Amino acid sequence: MADMPLNRLGRSGLKVSALSFGSWVTFGGQVDTGLAKEQLAVAREGGVNFFDNAEAYAGGKSEEIMGKAIAELGWARHTYVISTKIFWGIHEGVPNMKNTLNRKYLLQAIDGSLDRLGLDFVDLLFCHRPDPETPIEETVWAMSDIVSSGKALYWGTSEWSADEIRAAWDIADRRNLHKPVMEQPQYNLFETRRVEKEYARLYEDIGLGLTTWSPLASGLLTGKYVDGIPEGSRASLPGYEWLKGLLTDEEKNAQVRELGALAERLDVTTSQLAIAWVAKNPHVSTVILGASNVEQVHENLGALEALERLDDDVMAEIVGIIHPWTRG
Ligand code: NDP
Repeated sequence: MADMPLNRLGRSGLKVSALSFGSWVTFGGQVDTGLAKEQLAVAREGGVNFFDNAEAYAGGKSEEIMGKAIAELGWARHTYVISTKIFWGIHEGVPNMKNTLNRKYLLQAIDGSLDRLGLDFVDLLFCHRPDPETPIEETVWAMSDIVSSGKALYWGTSEWSADEIRAAWDIADRRNLHKPVMEQPQYNLFETRRVEKEYARLYEDIGLGLTTWSPLASGLLTGKYVDGIPEGSRASLPGYEWLKGLLTDEEKNAQVRELGALAERLDVTTSQLAIAWVAKNPHVSTVILGASNVEQVHENLGALEALERLDDDVMAEIVGIIHPWTRG
């Protein structure tokens, strides 16, 4: 297998593997601690050094499982990079603790996450969404204080607008606070707008790094939905009915079928080609992979081989297959 490239996280000095591994939907639902250990071990063997999580995943269980799995695997803390994300909260019916980035919530949420992960600090801490009801300045102070306390080493945002990211960075710059270093946006062949257009100026201006999510658009870009919804797939899971429209979209699936033919010609799988396409963007520091079993982890790490085949001609062919009007 090709060697795993390490990329700088934006302008920071931290290096993350070009492919990383996350736990949304899977850990605490489809994946228990035993399987998580297997997946994490395979990912790490393949060169992955960054593992993504969030407070809200499976109501906190995902952090518990990842923490326990890593502890049982015996990984030394200096050998991996781990993140969590806070915003949605897990305490039902308590004022100030849900869908917020207020100072009280942030300072308590990080303690809860560290407790569940069984760690003294996370490397990366994300504001999982913007909060229009808290001044950005309050959030920047709180995130900067968390970094100063040593409970997180770098902070960033997820699905913030370019203006919000820029405003946060400017406040931190003016007040000598820790600046946001990275953003976690969705980026795949069907979802390109933010990464390619909206954030374009931020890469140079503030050195923004990206840890991108859903490289396979929740499985659509594997080709597994071209003939309907396979049993046990994400679209069939209770609670994820809202994804069915995307995953069974006929026009998109027709394009995925064509992408599959190109992948076959290149002797890679459709998933590997779609993941490699994301990794090819030089602004992407790391592509966060998701997988519900071990085979998928193996297959998706093989995207590194596909990356080597993505020359200009192949890139142009891919653009020709995925119609611009079907992209977000
Ligand atoms: P993908 O778009 O890659 O979807 C992963 C899912 O697709 C798997 O769980 C599996 O689902 C299916 N799949 C993956 N590989 C294969 C394969 N080779 N063959 C067949 N099916 C496959 O990524 P995710 O949506 O899971 O996102 C990745 C990570 O990004 C998350 O774990 C999380 O860490 C992060 N994320 C962050 C968000 C944010 O708001 N910041 C939002 C969403 C994700 P199944 O087998 O069940 O069909």
